Amino acid sequence: MTSQPHPDSYYAATRNRAPDYPALQGDIETDVCVVGGGFTGIATALTLAERGYSVVVLEQNRIGWGASGRNGGQVIGGFSGEALMAQRLGPEVADLIWDIGWRGNAIIAERVQKYAIDCDFKYGYMDVALKPRHLRAFEAYHEELQRRGFGADVRMVAKHEMRSVLGSDAYIGGLINRRSGHLHPLNLCLGEAAAAASLGVKLFEGCEVLAIEHGPRPAAKTAGGRVRANAVVLAGNAYQRLETRRLSGQVFPAGSFIIATEPLSEEQAQEINPLDMAFCDPNYVLDYFRLSADRRLLFGGRCNYSGRVPSSIRASIEPRMHKVFPQLRTTRIDYEWGGSIGIVVNRVPLIGRLRDNVYYSLGYSGHGVNMTHAAGEILADAIGGTLERLDLFERVGHWRIPFGQALGGQLVALGMLYYRLRDWL
Ligand SMILES: Cc1cc2nc3c(=O)[nH]c(=O)nc-3n(C[C@H](O)[C@H](O)[C@H](O)COP(=O)(O)OP(=O)(O)OC[C@H]3O[C@@H](n4cnc5c(N)ncnc54)[C@H](O)[C@@H]3O)c2cc1C
Repeated sequence: MTSQPHPDSYYAATRNRAPDYPALQGDIETDVCVVGGGFTGIATALTLAERGYSVVVLEQNRIGWGASGRNGGQVIGGFSGEALMAQRLGPEVADLIWDIGWRGNAIIAERVQKYAIDCDFKYGYMDVALKPRHLRAFEAYHEELQRRGFGADVRMVAKHEMRSVLGSDAYIGGLINRRSGHLHPLNLCLGEAAAAASLGVKLFEGCEVLAIEHGPRPAAKTAGGRVRANAVVLAGNAYQRLETRRLSGQVFPAGSFIIATEPLSEEQAQEINPLDMAFCDPNYVLDYFRLSADRRLLFGGRCNYSGRVPSSIRASIEPRMHKVFPQLRTTRIDYEWGGSIGIVVNRVPLIGRLRDNVYYSLGYSGHGVNMTHAAGEILADAIGGTLERLDLFERVGHWRIPFGQALGGQLVALGMLYYRLRDWL
Protein backbone atom coordinates (compact mmCIF):
# COMPACT_ATOMS: atom_id res chain seq x y z
CA MET A 1 0.00 0.00 0.00
CA THR A 2 1.35 3.47 -0.87
CA SER A 3 1.69 5.79 2.09
CA GLN A 4 -0.99 8.50 2.23
CA PRO A 5 -0.71 12.11 3.43
CA HIS A 6 -3.09 13.51 6.06
CA PRO A 7 -6.47 13.81 4.36
CA ASP A 8 -7.68 17.34 3.58
CA SER A 9 -9.39 18.71 6.67
CA TYR A 10 -9.46 21.78 8.88
CA TYR A 11 -6.98 19.99 11.12
CA ALA A 12 -4.52 19.16 8.34
CA ALA A 13 -4.74 22.77 7.12
CA THR A 14 -3.92 24.13 10.60
CA ARG A 15 -1.48 21.51 11.86
CA ASN A 16 1.65 22.60 13.63
CA ARG A 17 4.99 22.02 12.00
CA ALA A 18 6.12 18.45 12.55
CA PRO A 19 9.06 16.49 11.22
CA ASP A 20 8.69 13.91 8.45
CA TYR A 21 9.67 10.74 10.21
CA PRO A 22 11.64 8.29 8.05
CA ALA A 23 10.54 4.90 6.76
CA LEU A 24 12.10 1.83 8.36
CA GLN A 25 15.14 0.48 6.52
CA GLY A 26 16.75 -2.68 7.84
CA ASP A 27 16.28 -4.62 11.05
CA ILE A 28 16.27 -3.08 14.51
CA GLU A 29 15.80 -4.27 18.08
CA THR A 30 13.81 -2.54 20.81
CA ASP A 31 11.95 -3.24 24.03
CA VAL A 32 8.48 -2.53 22.60
CA CYS A 33 7.28 -2.16 19.02
CA VAL A 34 3.98 -0.28 18.51
CA VAL A 35 2.03 -0.69 15.26
CA GLY A 36 -0.05 2.42 14.49
CA GLY A 37 0.72 6.10 15.04
CA GLY A 38 -2.64 7.38 16.36
CA PHE A 39 -3.50 8.26 19.95
CA THR A 40 -3.39 4.64 21.11
CA GLY A 41 0.03 3.98 19.63
CA ILE A 42 1.58 7.33 20.56
CA ALA A 43 0.10 7.39 24.09
CA THR A 44 1.41 3.87 24.70
CA ALA A 45 4.84 4.77 23.33
CA LEU A 46 5.04 7.97 25.37
CA THR A 47 4.01 6.27 28.62
CA LEU A 48 6.55 3.51 28.05
CA ALA A 49 9.30 6.02 27.19
CA GLU A 50 8.54 7.98 30.35
CA ARG A 51 9.13 4.71 32.22
CA GLY A 52 12.48 4.10 30.56
CA TYR A 53 11.62 1.60 27.83
CA SER A 54 13.05 1.79 24.32
CA VAL A 55 10.15 1.99 21.87
CA VAL A 56 9.65 1.93 18.10
CA VAL A 57 6.41 3.16 16.46
CA LEU A 58 5.58 2.02 12.92
CA GLU A 59 2.89 4.01 11.09
CA GLN A 60 1.80 3.08 7.60
CA ASN A 61 0.94 6.68 6.62
CA ARG A 62 1.62 9.80 8.71
CA ILE A 63 1.47 10.18 12.50
CA GLY A 64 -2.16 11.11 13.28
CA TRP A 65 -3.36 10.02 9.82
CA GLY A 66 -6.25 7.91 11.20
CA ALA A 67 -9.19 8.88 13.40
CA SER A 68 -6.86 10.60 15.87
CA GLY A 69 -6.08 13.37 13.40
CA ARG A 70 -9.62 13.78 12.10
CA ASN A 71 -12.04 13.56 15.01
CA GLY A 72 -14.39 16.02 16.68
CA GLY A 73 -11.73 16.90 19.24
CA GLN A 74 -14.15 16.30 22.10
CA VAL A 75 -12.38 15.07 25.22
CA ILE A 76 -15.22 13.39 27.09
CA GLY A 77 -14.77 11.42 30.29
CA GLY A 78 -16.10 7.89 30.56
CA PHE A 79 -16.06 5.32 27.76
CA SER A 80 -18.45 3.41 25.54
CA GLY A 81 -19.62 0.21 27.13
CA GLU A 82 -18.63 1.38 30.64
CA ALA A 83 -22.03 0.64 32.19
CA LEU A 84 -22.18 -2.83 30.67
CA MET A 85 -18.66 -3.57 31.86
CA ALA A 86 -19.45 -2.44 35.41
CA GLN A 87 -22.63 -4.50 35.40
CA ARG A 88 -20.86 -7.63 34.16
CA LEU A 89 -17.85 -7.41 36.44
CA GLY A 90 -19.65 -6.45 39.62
CA PRO A 91 -19.56 -3.72 42.29
CA GLU A 92 -16.12 -4.63 43.64
CA VAL A 93 -14.47 -3.18 40.50
CA ALA A 94 -16.96 -0.34 39.87
CA ASP A 95 -14.59 2.34 41.20
CA LEU A 96 -11.69 1.03 39.16
CA ILE A 97 -13.80 1.10 35.99
CA TRP A 98 -14.96 4.63 36.79
CA ASP A 99 -11.34 5.77 37.30
CA ILE A 100 -10.33 4.28 33.95
CA GLY A 101 -13.10 6.30 32.32
CA TRP A 102 -11.68 9.58 33.65
CA ARG A 103 -7.99 8.74 33.54
CA GLY A 104 -7.59 9.70 29.87
CA ASN A 105 -8.76 13.27 30.50
CA ALA A 106 -6.17 13.64 33.26
CA ILE A 107 -3.37 12.21 31.10
CA ILE A 108 -4.19 14.60 28.24
CA ALA A 109 -4.24 17.62 30.56
CA GLU A 110 -0.94 16.56 32.16
CA ARG A 111 0.76 16.04 28.80
CA VAL A 112 -0.47 19.26 27.26
CA GLN A 113 1.04 21.07 30.20
CA LYS A 114 4.20 19.01 30.70
CA TYR A 115 5.25 19.05 27.04
CA ALA A 116 3.73 22.49 26.24
CA ILE A 117 1.63 21.03 23.41
CA ASP A 118 -0.07 23.75 21.41
CA CYS A 119 -3.46 22.14 20.65
CA ASP A 120 -6.12 24.70 21.73
CA PHE A 121 -7.11 22.57 24.75
CA LYS A 122 -10.08 24.00 26.67
CA TYR A 123 -12.40 22.68 29.35
CA GLY A 124 -16.17 22.83 28.77
CA TYR A 125 -18.46 20.14 27.43
CA MET A 126 -22.22 19.71 27.39
CA ASP A 127 -24.48 16.72 26.80
CA VAL A 128 -27.63 18.08 25.18
CA ALA A 129 -31.06 16.42 25.42
CA LEU A 130 -33.53 15.97 22.58
CA LYS A 131 -36.09 14.02 24.62
CA PRO A 132 -37.28 13.79 28.21
CA ARG A 133 -35.69 10.35 28.54
CA HIS A 134 -32.31 11.90 27.70
CA LEU A 135 -32.79 14.45 30.48
CA ARG A 136 -33.68 11.71 32.95
CA ALA A 137 -30.48 9.86 32.04
CA PHE A 138 -28.42 13.06 32.44
CA GLU A 139 -30.01 13.71 35.84
CA ALA A 140 -29.03 10.23 37.01
CA TYR A 141 -25.50 10.76 35.67
CA HIS A 142 -25.33 14.18 37.34
CA GLU A 143 -26.18 12.53 40.65
CA GLU A 144 -23.43 10.00 40.14
CA LEU A 145 -20.95 12.76 39.27
CA GLN A 146 -21.95 14.57 42.45
CA ARG A 147 -21.46 11.40 44.49
CA ARG A 148 -18.01 11.13 42.99
CA GLY A 149 -17.00 14.65 43.93
CA PHE A 150 -17.39 16.66 40.71
CA GLY A 151 -19.07 19.46 42.67
CA ALA A 152 -19.40 22.75 40.80
CA ASP A 153 -17.67 21.30 37.71
CA VAL A 154 -21.01 19.80 36.63
CA ARG A 155 -24.47 21.31 36.43
CA MET A 156 -27.84 20.59 34.86
CA VAL A 157 -29.27 23.23 32.54
CA ALA A 158 -33.05 23.55 32.22
CA LYS A 159 -34.85 24.28 28.96
CA HIS A 160 -35.52 27.91 29.82
CA GLU A 161 -31.78 28.48 30.49
CA MET A 162 -30.58 26.88 27.27
CA ARG A 163 -30.26 30.11 25.32
CA SER A 164 -27.69 31.32 27.83
CA VAL A 165 -25.37 28.43 26.91
CA LEU A 166 -26.27 27.61 23.29
CA GLY A 167 -27.74 29.59 20.40
CA SER A 168 -30.18 26.89 19.38
CA ASP A 169 -33.72 25.81 20.19
CA ALA A 170 -33.03 22.21 19.18
CA TYR A 171 -32.51 20.91 22.72
CA ILE A 172 -34.60 20.74 25.87
CA GLY A 173 -31.81 20.95 28.42
CA GLY A 174 -28.53 19.34 29.22
CA LEU A 175 -25.60 18.64 31.49
CA ILE A 176 -22.48 20.80 31.54
CA ASN A 177 -19.25 19.13 32.56
CA ARG A 178 -16.15 21.26 33.07
CA ARG A 179 -13.82 18.26 33.46
CA SER A 180 -14.38 17.39 29.81
CA GLY A 181 -13.53 19.72 26.95
CA HIS A 182 -12.13 20.00 23.46
CA LEU A 183 -8.92 20.45 21.48
CA HIS A 184 -7.24 20.21 18.05
CA PRO A 185 -6.69 16.45 17.92
CA LEU A 186 -4.09 16.32 15.15
CA ASN A 187 -1.94 18.87 16.96
CA LEU A 188 -2.29 16.89 20.19
CA CYS A 189 -1.18 13.71 18.43
CA LEU A 190 1.74 15.41 16.67
CA GLY A 191 2.75 17.10 19.93
CA GLU A 192 2.67 13.83 21.85
CA ALA A 193 4.68 12.16 19.08
CA ALA A 194 7.29 14.94 19.32
CA ALA A 195 7.38 14.46 23.11
CA ALA A 196 7.87 10.72 22.62
CA ALA A 197 10.66 11.36 20.09
CA SER A 198 12.34 13.71 22.57
CA LEU A 199 12.43 10.82 25.04
CA GLY A 200 14.10 8.55 22.48
CA VAL A 201 11.10 6.83 20.85
CA LYS A 202 11.95 5.99 17.23
CA LEU A 203 9.03 6.92 14.97
CA PHE A 204 8.74 5.65 11.43
CA GLU A 205 6.15 6.76 8.86
CA GLY A 206 5.16 5.31 5.52
CA CYS A 207 5.82 1.75 6.62
CA GLU A 208 2.92 -0.62 6.78
CA VAL A 209 3.40 -3.60 9.04
CA LEU A 210 2.66 -6.59 6.84
CA ALA A 211 2.84 -9.34 9.44
CA ILE A 212 3.66 -10.12 13.05
CA GLU A 213 6.17 -12.92 13.55
CA HIS A 214 5.36 -14.55 16.87
CA GLY A 215 7.89 -16.09 19.24
CA PRO A 216 9.75 -15.35 22.45
CA ARG A 217 10.81 -12.04 20.83
CA PRO A 218 8.07 -11.20 18.33
CA ALA A 219 8.76 -9.00 15.30
CA ALA A 220 6.80 -6.58 13.14
CA LYS A 221 7.71 -6.97 9.49
CA THR A 222 7.52 -4.15 6.92
CA ALA A 223 8.59 -4.04 3.28
CA GLY A 224 11.81 -2.29 4.35
CA GLY A 225 12.78 -4.20 7.46
CA ARG A 226 11.78 -5.78 10.72
CA VAL A 227 11.50 -4.60 14.33
CA ARG A 228 12.18 -7.28 16.91
CA ALA A 229 10.99 -6.58 20.45
CA ASN A 230 10.09 -8.08 23.80
CA ALA A 231 6.51 -6.97 23.21
CA VAL A 232 4.42 -5.79 20.26
CA VAL A 233 1.33 -3.54 20.57
CA LEU A 234 -1.32 -3.46 17.83
CA ALA A 235 -2.87 0.01 17.75
CA GLY A 236 -4.46 0.26 14.29
CA ASN A 237 -8.08 0.59 15.47
CA ALA A 238 -10.54 0.67 12.54
CA TYR A 239 -7.63 0.56 10.08
CA GLN A 240 -6.24 -2.60 11.68
CA ARG A 241 -5.89 -5.54 9.25
CA LEU A 242 -3.36 -7.72 11.11
CA GLU A 243 -3.97 -10.95 13.01
CA THR A 244 -7.35 -11.45 11.38
CA ARG A 245 -7.73 -14.97 12.73
CA ARG A 246 -8.07 -13.57 16.25
CA LEU A 247 -9.23 -10.01 15.73
CA SER A 248 -11.50 -9.91 12.69
CA GLY A 249 -15.20 -10.07 13.37
CA GLN A 250 -14.79 -8.02 16.55
CA VAL A 251 -14.10 -4.42 15.44
CA PHE A 252 -15.96 -2.90 12.49
CA PRO A 253 -15.26 0.36 10.70
CA ALA A 254 -18.05 2.94 10.68
CA GLY A 255 -17.90 6.33 8.99
CA SER A 256 -18.13 9.58 10.93
CA PHE A 257 -17.98 12.91 9.10
CA ILE A 258 -17.38 16.57 9.90
CA ILE A 259 -17.83 19.90 8.16
CA ALA A 260 -16.13 23.17 9.17
CA THR A 261 -17.63 26.55 8.36
CA GLU A 262 -15.77 29.69 7.47
CA PRO A 263 -14.63 31.60 10.62
CA LEU A 264 -17.67 33.13 12.33
CA SER A 265 -17.70 36.71 13.51
CA GLU A 266 -17.11 37.26 17.21
CA GLU A 267 -20.80 38.16 17.60
CA GLN A 268 -21.96 34.98 15.85
CA ALA A 269 -19.61 32.83 17.93
CA GLN A 270 -20.80 34.52 21.09
CA GLU A 271 -24.41 33.94 20.11
CA ILE A 272 -24.14 30.26 19.19
CA ASN A 273 -21.61 29.10 21.78
CA PRO A 274 -21.02 31.78 24.44
CA LEU A 275 -19.12 29.48 26.82
CA ASP A 276 -17.02 27.93 24.01
CA MET A 277 -17.96 24.37 24.91
CA ALA A 278 -18.13 21.12 22.94
CA PHE A 279 -21.62 19.60 22.52
CA CYS A 280 -22.92 16.13 21.83
CA ASP A 281 -26.40 14.63 21.73
CA PRO A 282 -26.94 11.17 23.22
CA ASN A 283 -28.30 9.47 20.10
CA TYR A 284 -26.47 6.44 18.76
CA VAL A 285 -26.44 8.23 15.41
CA LEU A 286 -25.42 11.49 16.99
CA ASP A 287 -24.61 15.12 16.19
CA TYR A 288 -21.57 16.75 17.79
CA PHE A 289 -20.15 20.24 17.40
CA ARG A 290 -17.87 22.89 18.79
CA LEU A 291 -15.96 25.98 17.74
CA SER A 292 -12.36 25.82 16.57
CA ALA A 293 -9.80 28.26 17.94
CA ASP A 294 -10.38 30.48 14.89
CA ARG A 295 -14.18 30.41 15.50
CA ARG A 296 -15.28 27.97 12.81
CA LEU A 297 -18.19 25.75 13.68
CA LEU A 298 -17.01 22.13 13.42
CA PHE A 299 -20.17 20.07 13.08
CA GLY A 300 -20.02 16.30 12.89
CA GLY A 301 -22.32 13.37 12.65
CA ARG A 302 -22.46 9.73 11.81
CA CYS A 303 -23.71 9.02 8.38
CA ASN A 304 -23.19 5.35 7.90
CA TYR A 305 -22.08 2.09 9.41
CA SER A 306 -20.94 0.51 6.17
CA GLY A 307 -17.50 2.16 6.29
CA ARG A 308 -18.26 3.87 2.93
CA VAL A 309 -17.73 7.60 2.40
CA PRO A 310 -20.92 9.36 1.22
CA SER A 311 -20.73 10.97 -2.23
CA SER A 312 -20.98 14.39 -0.58
CA ILE A 313 -20.08 14.73 3.09
CA ARG A 314 -21.29 18.29 3.06
CA ALA A 315 -24.69 17.32 1.62
CA SER A 316 -25.10 14.73 4.40
CA ILE A 317 -24.06 16.92 7.31
CA GLU A 318 -25.01 20.49 6.40
CA PRO A 319 -28.81 19.96 6.73
CA ARG A 320 -28.22 18.60 10.24
CA MET A 321 -26.19 21.68 11.10
CA HIS A 322 -28.94 23.96 9.74
CA LYS A 323 -31.51 22.14 11.83
CA VAL A 324 -29.55 22.99 14.98
CA PHE A 325 -28.38 26.43 13.82
CA PRO A 326 -30.80 27.84 11.23
CA GLN A 327 -29.03 31.18 11.62
CA LEU A 328 -26.00 29.69 9.78
CA ARG A 329 -27.91 28.94 6.57
CA THR A 330 -25.82 31.33 4.52
CA THR A 331 -22.52 30.51 6.22
CA ARG A 332 -19.91 29.05 3.88
CA ILE A 333 -18.52 25.56 4.42
CA ASP A 334 -14.73 25.52 4.01
CA TYR A 335 -13.81 21.93 4.86
CA GLU A 336 -15.43 18.49 4.85
CA TRP A 337 -13.80 15.22 5.83
CA GLY A 338 -14.41 11.95 7.57
CA GLY A 339 -12.75 8.93 9.04
CA SER A 340 -13.35 5.47 10.40
CA ILE A 341 -14.24 4.71 13.96
CA GLY A 342 -13.90 1.16 15.28
CA ILE A 343 -17.22 -0.18 16.53
CA VAL A 344 -17.36 -3.12 18.91
CA VAL A 345 -20.66 -4.96 19.19
CA ASN A 346 -21.00 -4.60 22.99
CA ARG A 347 -19.15 -1.23 22.79
CA VAL A 348 -16.53 -2.16 25.41
CA PRO A 349 -13.07 -1.34 23.99
CA LEU A 350 -11.16 -4.41 22.92
CA ILE A 351 -8.02 -4.32 25.07
CA GLY A 352 -6.07 -7.48 25.64
CA ARG A 353 -3.38 -9.93 24.56
CA LEU A 354 -3.08 -12.28 21.60
CA ARG A 355 -0.19 -13.94 23.42
CA ASP A 356 1.89 -13.05 26.45
CA ASN A 357 3.95 -10.61 24.41
CA VAL A 358 1.50 -9.31 21.75
CA TYR A 359 -1.05 -6.76 22.96
CA TYR A 360 -3.86 -4.86 21.27
CA SER A 361 -6.20 -1.98 22.03
CA LEU A 362 -8.90 -1.19 19.49
CA GLY A 363 -12.55 -0.29 19.11
CA TYR A 364 -13.51 2.73 21.18
CA SER A 365 -16.87 2.99 19.37
CA GLY A 366 -16.42 6.69 18.55
CA HIS A 367 -15.43 7.75 22.06
CA GLY A 368 -11.69 7.40 21.99
CA VAL A 369 -9.88 10.70 22.49
CA ASN A 370 -9.72 10.17 26.25
CA MET A 371 -9.90 6.37 26.29
CA THR A 372 -6.93 5.85 23.95
CA HIS A 373 -4.83 7.69 26.51
CA ALA A 374 -6.05 5.51 29.37
CA ALA A 375 -5.47 2.47 27.14
CA GLY A 376 -1.87 3.53 26.53
CA GLU A 377 -1.29 3.49 30.28
CA ILE A 378 -3.12 0.19 30.75
CA LEU A 379 -0.95 -1.43 28.05
CA ALA A 380 2.24 0.08 29.47
CA ASP A 381 1.30 -1.26 32.92
CA ALA A 382 0.64 -4.70 31.46
CA ILE A 383 3.95 -4.76 29.61
CA GLY A 384 5.59 -3.89 32.94
CA GLY A 385 3.80 -6.83 34.60
CA THR A 386 0.83 -5.04 36.24
CA LEU A 387 -2.22 -6.63 34.71
CA GLU A 388 -5.01 -5.42 37.00
CA ARG A 389 -6.72 -3.05 34.56
CA LEU A 390 -5.95 -5.05 31.39
CA ASP A 391 -7.46 -8.05 33.10
CA LEU A 392 -10.82 -6.26 33.47
CA PHE A 393 -11.07 -5.79 29.72
CA GLU A 394 -10.00 -9.37 29.05
CA ARG A 395 -12.62 -10.65 31.49
CA VAL A 396 -15.55 -8.72 30.09
CA GLY A 397 -15.97 -10.98 27.06
CA HIS A 398 -16.66 -9.91 23.50
CA TRP A 399 -18.80 -11.19 20.73
CA ARG A 400 -17.07 -12.34 17.64
CA ILE A 401 -19.19 -12.23 14.50
CA PRO A 402 -18.27 -15.27 12.42
CA PHE A 403 -17.68 -15.44 8.66
CA GLY A 404 -15.26 -12.55 8.51
CA GLN A 405 -15.39 -8.83 8.10
CA ALA A 406 -17.76 -8.70 5.10
CA LEU A 407 -20.71 -10.35 6.77
CA GLY A 408 -19.77 -8.69 10.05
CA GLY A 409 -20.05 -5.26 8.43
CA GLN A 410 -23.52 -6.07 7.14
CA LEU A 411 -24.60 -7.26 10.58
CA VAL A 412 -23.27 -4.13 12.23
CA ALA A 413 -25.13 -2.04 9.63
CA LEU A 414 -28.29 -3.94 10.57
CA GLY A 415 -27.57 -3.49 14.26
CA MET A 416 -27.14 0.22 13.68
CA LEU A 417 -30.47 0.38 11.89
CA TYR A 418 -31.90 -0.95 15.13
CA TYR A 419 -30.13 1.81 17.09
CA ARG A 420 -31.34 4.44 14.60
CA LEU A 421 -34.89 3.23 15.23
CA ARG A 422 -34.28 3.51 18.97
CA ASP A 423 -33.09 7.10 18.49
CA TRP A 424 -36.37 7.93 16.79
CA LEU A 425 -38.50 6.52 19.61
C1 LIG B 1 -14.81 11.81 12.29
C2 LIG B 1 -14.53 11.26 13.67
C3 LIG B 1 -14.93 11.99 14.78
C4 LIG B 1 -14.66 11.51 16.07
N1 LIG B 1 -14.93 12.33 17.12
C5 LIG B 1 -14.54 11.95 18.37
C6 LIG B 1 -14.65 12.86 19.44
O1 LIG B 1 -15.03 14.04 19.27
N2 LIG B 1 -14.32 12.42 20.69
C7 LIG B 1 -13.86 11.16 20.90
O2 LIG B 1 -13.60 10.79 22.04
N3 LIG B 1 -13.66 10.28 19.87
C8 LIG B 1 -13.96 10.67 18.62
N4 LIG B 1 -13.71 9.84 17.57
C9 LIG B 1 -13.04 8.56 17.82
C10 LIG B 1 -11.53 8.73 18.06
O3 LIG B 1 -11.00 9.60 17.09
C11 LIG B 1 -10.85 7.37 17.99
O4 LIG B 1 -11.43 6.50 18.93
C12 LIG B 1 -9.36 7.43 18.29
O5 LIG B 1 -8.73 8.47 17.56
C13 LIG B 1 -8.69 6.11 17.96
O6 LIG B 1 -7.31 6.26 18.03
P1 LIG B 1 -6.37 5.07 17.57
O7 LIG B 1 -4.98 5.52 17.72
O8 LIG B 1 -6.76 3.82 18.25
O9 LIG B 1 -6.72 4.85 16.02
P2 LIG B 1 -6.36 5.75 14.76
O10 LIG B 1 -6.21 7.17 15.12
O11 LIG B 1 -7.31 5.41 13.69
O12 LIG B 1 -4.90 5.29 14.38
C14 LIG B 1 -4.61 4.01 13.90
C15 LIG B 1 -3.34 4.15 13.07
O13 LIG B 1 -2.83 2.85 12.81
C16 LIG B 1 -2.26 2.85 11.52
N5 LIG B 1 -2.17 1.46 11.07
C17 LIG B 1 -3.18 0.57 10.93
N6 LIG B 1 -2.70 -0.60 10.48
C18 LIG B 1 -1.35 -0.44 10.35
C19 LIG B 1 -0.29 -1.31 9.91
N7 LIG B 1 -0.52 -2.58 9.52
N8 LIG B 1 0.97 -0.83 9.90
C20 LIG B 1 1.24 0.45 10.32
N9 LIG B 1 0.27 1.30 10.70
C21 LIG B 1 -1.00 0.86 10.73
C22 LIG B 1 -3.23 3.72 10.72
O14 LIG B 1 -2.63 4.23 9.54
C23 LIG B 1 -3.61 4.80 11.72
O15 LIG B 1 -2.81 5.96 11.59
C24 LIG B 1 -14.00 10.26 16.25
C25 LIG B 1 -13.61 9.52 15.14
C26 LIG B 1 -13.86 10.01 13.86
C27 LIG B 1 -13.41 9.21 12.67
